[in-house]
Amino acid sequence: MTAKSPVRRFDAFRWEDTDLLAYKEEGSAPFKAITRQTLFRDPAIKCELRYFEMAPGGYSTLERHEHMHAVLILRGRGECLIGDTVHKIETNDLVTIEPWTWHQFRANADLPLGFLCMVNVERDKPALPSSEERQALASNPKTAAFLKD
Ligand code: MN
Repeated sequence: MTAKSPVRRFDAFRWEDTDLLAYKEEGSAPFKAITRQTLFRDPAIKCELRYFEMAPGGYSTLERHEHMHAVLILRGRGECLIGDTVHKIETNDLVTIEPWTWHQFRANADLPLGFLCMVNVERDKPALPSSEERQALASNPKTAAFLKD
Protein backbone atom coordinates (compact mmCIF):
# COMPACT_ATOMS: atom_id res chain seq x y z
CA MET A 1 0.00 0.00 0.00
CA THR A 2 1.38 3.42 -0.93
CA ALA A 3 1.29 5.97 1.84
CA LYS A 4 -1.40 8.59 1.55
CA SER A 5 -0.34 12.21 1.57
CA PRO A 6 -1.04 13.81 4.96
CA VAL A 7 -3.22 16.29 3.09
CA ARG A 8 -5.97 14.93 0.88
CA ARG A 9 -7.91 17.43 -1.19
CA PHE A 10 -11.65 17.49 -1.49
CA ASP A 11 -13.63 18.15 -4.65
CA ALA A 12 -17.32 17.65 -5.28
CA PHE A 13 -17.69 15.58 -2.09
CA ARG A 14 -14.93 13.15 -3.07
CA TRP A 15 -11.59 13.04 -1.27
CA GLU A 16 -8.47 12.19 -3.24
CA ASP A 17 -6.82 8.80 -2.56
CA THR A 18 -10.04 7.73 -0.87
CA ASP A 19 -12.17 4.89 -2.19
CA LEU A 20 -15.85 5.38 -2.90
CA LEU A 21 -17.34 2.30 -1.23
CA ALA A 22 -20.68 0.61 -1.02
CA TYR A 23 -22.52 1.66 2.15
CA LYS A 24 -22.90 -1.95 3.24
CA GLU A 25 -22.84 -5.34 1.63
CA GLU A 26 -25.77 -5.52 -0.82
CA GLY A 27 -28.68 -7.50 0.68
CA SER A 28 -27.29 -7.37 4.25
CA ALA A 29 -29.87 -4.78 5.35
CA PRO A 30 -32.38 -2.36 3.77
CA PHE A 31 -30.86 0.89 2.45
CA LYS A 32 -31.08 2.99 -0.72
CA ALA A 33 -28.71 5.09 -2.86
CA ILE A 34 -25.93 5.65 -0.30
CA THR A 35 -22.13 5.55 -0.54
CA ARG A 36 -19.30 5.54 2.00
CA GLN A 37 -15.79 7.05 2.05
CA THR A 38 -13.54 6.19 5.00
CA LEU A 39 -11.57 9.37 5.68
CA PHE A 40 -9.61 8.41 8.81
CA ARG A 41 -9.18 5.07 10.48
CA ASP A 42 -6.42 4.66 12.97
CA PRO A 43 -6.34 2.22 15.88
CA ALA A 44 -4.00 4.64 17.72
CA ILE A 45 -6.81 7.17 18.12
CA LYS A 46 -9.40 4.39 18.29
CA CYS A 47 -11.87 6.10 16.02
CA GLU A 48 -12.91 6.17 12.43
CA LEU A 49 -14.35 9.06 10.45
CA ARG A 50 -16.54 8.21 7.48
CA TYR A 51 -18.40 10.33 4.96
CA PHE A 52 -21.76 8.98 3.83
CA GLU A 53 -23.74 10.42 0.99
CA MET A 54 -27.28 9.64 -0.07
CA ALA A 55 -28.71 10.58 -3.42
CA PRO A 56 -32.04 12.48 -3.28
CA GLY A 57 -34.60 10.09 -1.75
CA GLY A 58 -31.89 7.76 -0.41
CA TYR A 59 -31.78 6.38 3.11
CA SER A 60 -29.53 4.54 5.55
CA THR A 61 -30.49 1.38 7.41
CA LEU A 62 -32.81 1.58 10.41
CA GLU A 63 -30.61 0.06 13.12
CA ARG A 64 -29.25 0.35 16.66
CA HIS A 65 -26.12 -0.76 18.45
CA GLU A 66 -23.97 -0.33 21.53
CA HIS A 67 -21.52 2.12 19.89
CA MET A 68 -22.38 5.81 19.52
CA HIS A 69 -22.35 7.99 16.43
CA ALA A 70 -21.26 11.62 16.26
CA VAL A 71 -22.58 13.06 12.99
CA LEU A 72 -21.95 16.39 11.24
CA ILE A 73 -24.16 17.15 8.25
CA LEU A 74 -21.95 18.52 5.46
CA ARG A 75 -24.39 18.75 2.60
CA GLY A 76 -28.09 18.94 1.87
CA ARG A 77 -31.20 18.47 3.92
CA GLY A 78 -33.19 15.55 5.18
CA GLU A 79 -34.65 13.92 8.24
CA CYS A 80 -33.36 11.50 10.82
CA LEU A 81 -35.20 9.20 13.13
CA ILE A 82 -33.62 9.01 16.58
CA GLY A 83 -35.43 6.82 19.08
CA ASP A 84 -39.08 7.63 18.46
CA THR A 85 -38.59 11.19 17.19
CA VAL A 86 -38.09 12.47 13.64
CA HIS A 87 -35.79 15.50 13.35
CA LYS A 88 -35.29 17.76 10.35
CA ILE A 89 -31.58 18.06 9.56
CA GLU A 90 -29.57 20.42 7.37
CA THR A 91 -25.98 21.37 6.59
CA ASN A 92 -23.83 22.02 9.69
CA ASP A 93 -26.21 20.33 12.14
CA LEU A 94 -24.56 18.06 14.71
CA VAL A 95 -26.37 14.86 15.57
CA THR A 96 -25.54 12.61 18.54
CA ILE A 97 -26.82 9.06 18.52
CA GLU A 98 -26.66 7.46 21.95
CA PRO A 99 -26.04 3.70 22.43
CA TRP A 100 -28.93 1.37 21.61
CA THR A 101 -31.05 4.12 20.03
CA TRP A 102 -32.91 3.35 16.79
CA HIS A 103 -31.68 5.63 14.01
CA GLN A 104 -32.07 6.16 10.29
CA PHE A 105 -31.16 9.04 7.95
CA ARG A 106 -33.16 10.05 4.88
CA ALA A 107 -32.29 12.59 2.19
CA ASN A 108 -35.00 14.95 0.98
CA ALA A 109 -36.31 14.26 -2.52
CA ASP A 110 -34.60 17.33 -4.05
CA LEU A 111 -31.01 17.21 -2.70
CA PRO A 112 -28.27 14.75 -1.79
CA LEU A 113 -27.60 14.43 1.95
CA GLY A 114 -23.97 14.03 3.02
CA PHE A 115 -22.58 13.67 6.53
CA LEU A 116 -19.46 12.83 8.48
CA CYS A 117 -19.92 10.08 11.04
CA MET A 118 -17.41 9.30 13.78
CA VAL A 119 -17.38 5.84 15.37
CA ASN A 120 -15.06 3.60 17.36
CA VAL A 121 -12.68 1.46 15.29
CA GLU A 122 -13.72 -1.53 17.43
CA ARG A 123 -17.49 -1.64 17.51
CA ASP A 124 -20.42 -4.01 17.74
CA LYS A 125 -22.47 -5.03 14.76
CA PRO A 126 -25.72 -3.09 14.16
CA ALA A 127 -28.97 -4.82 15.11
CA LEU A 128 -31.97 -4.52 12.79
CA PRO A 129 -35.50 -4.20 14.18
CA SER A 130 -37.52 -7.39 14.62
CA SER A 131 -40.87 -7.33 12.80
CA GLU A 132 -42.56 -6.48 16.14
CA GLU A 133 -40.15 -3.60 16.79
CA ARG A 134 -40.60 -2.29 13.24
CA GLN A 135 -44.36 -2.52 13.59
CA ALA A 136 -44.26 -0.59 16.89
CA LEU A 137 -42.31 2.25 15.21
CA ALA A 138 -44.49 2.13 12.09
CA SER A 139 -47.69 2.40 14.13
CA ASN A 140 -46.41 5.30 16.24
CA PRO A 141 -47.96 8.50 14.75
CA LYS A 142 -44.66 10.36 15.39
CA THR A 143 -42.63 7.99 13.19
CA ALA A 144 -45.15 6.33 10.85
CA ALA A 145 -44.71 8.71 7.88
CA PHE A 146 -40.92 8.54 8.14
CA LEU A 147 -40.97 4.73 7.91
CA LYS A 148 -43.41 4.47 4.98
CA ASP A 149 -40.98 2.68 2.61
MN1 MN B 1 -25.57 3.16 13.02
